[in-house]
Amino acid sequence: MTQFPIDGFTSSLWYATAVDAPDTEALTESIQADVVIIGAGITGLNAAIELAQNQVNVVVLDAGVIAGGASGRNGGQVNLGLNKGPDGLIEHYGEASATPLIHAICRTPDTVFDRIRQFGINCDAEQNGWIQGAVSLRGLDAMRAQADEYARYGLSIEELSKAEVDRQSGSSQFVGGVFVKQSGSIQPLSYTRELARVAIEAGVSIYTHSLVETLRQLANHNGWIVSTALASVTANHVLVCTNGYTDDTVSGLAKKVVPVRSIQVATEPLSEELQAKILPNRSTVVDKRRMILYGRYDRDNRLTMGDRGPMRDQFCEDDFADVKKRAIALYPELSEVRWDYHWGGRVAITKDYLPFLFEPARHLHVGMGYNGRGVGMGTMMGMAMAARVLNLGPDKAFMPETSPDEFIFHALHEIGAEVVIRWEMLMDRIDSMRG
Ligand SMILES: Cc1cc2nc3c(=O)[nH]c(=O)nc-3n(C[C@H](O)[C@H](O)[C@H](O)COP(=O)(O)OP(=O)(O)OC[C@H]3O[C@@H](n4cnc5c(N)ncnc54)[C@H](O)[C@@H]3O)c2cc1C
Repeated sequence: MTQFPIDGFTSSLWYATAVDAPDTEALTESIQADVVIIGAGITGLNAAIELAQNQVNVVVLDAGVIAGGASGRNGGQVNLGLNKGPDGLIEHYGEASATPLIHAICRTPDTVFDRIRQFGINCDAEQNGWIQGAVSLRGLDAMRAQADEYARYGLSIEELSKAEVDRQSGSSQFVGGVFVKQSGSIQPLSYTRELARVAIEAGVSIYTHSLVETLRQLANHNGWIVSTALASVTANHVLVCTNGYTDDTVSGLAKKVVPVRSIQVATEPLSEELQAKILPNRSTVVDKRRMILYGRYDRDNRLTMGDRGPMRDQFCEDDFADVKKRAIALYPELSEVRWDYHWGGRVAITKDYLPFLFEPARHLHVGMGYNGRGVGMGTMMGMAMAARVLNLGPDKAFMPETSPDEFIFHALHEIGAEVVIRWEMLMDRIDSMRG
């Protein structure tokens, strides 16, 4: 059982059940590399693997441990899509830039599961599909419209009637929904630790407890010196993959993301009777309101549910009252079960609710801002960042380069996020009353 207060990482179900991390140490002597990557999470490690497989000499630096950011704490849902559907992406980026991105989005879950097989990654992967449940007819129409948009790119998303969503989700709270069969779930800490193992086997050097304090561009503009308190790495390219844990090491970058918190709870292993009722096909589920609630089983049949969290990194018992209440509203049977694990971490929100890839200075590449969708998109972004360094074409370097906006009065946005959350909860209640 969880002892509060908690740090949100070591208290997690994933920490209790993950494969071991490879042994790593801090950087203590100054070295050279072709590419240095800041952040040993899903994004940075996927980029590292791609580069190393192309004979690039890569060093990864992390301030903490492997997967100590969101990658080791998340819900492990390998989902499809961003906050905008294909039409919205075309409107946002223009057709030429959006098209490779939409195709990449369509192949995201399959890419993650293919990599898991290809690299022999041991992370309890299950590709049993994703149920999106709508709580209002308006929400259902929007889901169906987006499914039609994806169909134009050859991706079929199944529409679920009220009876079908009731049966597949095990909840009577939805008016209908859609089912994405390509999606699924992983043990996220195992996935990321295993990515680190694969990267090391491919020749990557990973240094932990190595906070990057400064970046200095070489006089010829062909590279960078990336320094920690003890040593430095000189490299031609720098990849910044710090997402919700971004600080101001790259000047002005922290203002381009607001870190909001998401929290998770996990039940005791559920009885066979409850498993037959709740998510009987072991799909993942999202209660698709403005304030989403998401859930799935782990390998031991514990149900995990996730929700928004408070605007701080250390959590107390009261922080988890709402997510349990919402989980029980969805599944009243859970009122009788024990909640064994509580944890949480930072989700990076961007001004346009879309991830960004940009190069603020020559050979300094920044990829982040998944708005809660970084298991699949972080994998894809890492691959796209590597493709950019390798000068591959738009199919592989599919992420459009943008110039992300800053949040003006950034500190106030953290407070603003609380206000927005309350407002959206109210709108959700009104929507579900309207039906
Ligand atoms: C509770 C929760 C639930 C979530 N659920 C899902 C889900 O089910 N599905 C989904 O798709 N997404 C989910 N997400 C989002 C997803 O986890 C993230 O988008 C993804 O893990 C981001 O990976 P990353 O590698 O970019 O960043 P991270 O994993 O956050 O890694 C960033 C790393 O950068 C390091 N760092 C920062 N600054 C420095 C520095 N100066 N020097 C050195 N290192 C530095 C940090 O130590 C950290 O390890 C969830 C997130 C949370 C918090």
